[in-house]
Amino acid sequence: MADKKIKNKLPSKKWSKYKLNNDKLERKPTCPRCGAGNFMAEHKDRLYCGKCAYTVFNDKRISEGKKAKVSEEQIKAIEKEIAVEESESEES
Ligand SMILES: [Zn+2]
Repeated sequence: MADKKIKNKLPSKKWSKYKLNNDKLERKPTCPRCGAGNFMAEHKDRLYCGKCAYTVFNDKRISEGKKAKVSEEQIKAIEKEIAVEESESEES
């Protein structure tokens, strides 16, 4: 049992963070704190920097969630406001 099992470390795959698009180098999102070359880990709803733990949440998902939370009453109230504004503009 003297033999130690050697586990090969996974490569960082940093090359996969760069892409050529019409001779222009495109980079995956990098960490604003750590600077260029420190790429963010891509999760389904956020970007995460493994170096300094900087996290950026996906704004799209957050705004979509907020929209879904708007109740029907609030929508009706907004629709009423719009109707009032329209009738006022017609009078003038
Ligand atoms: Zn960082």
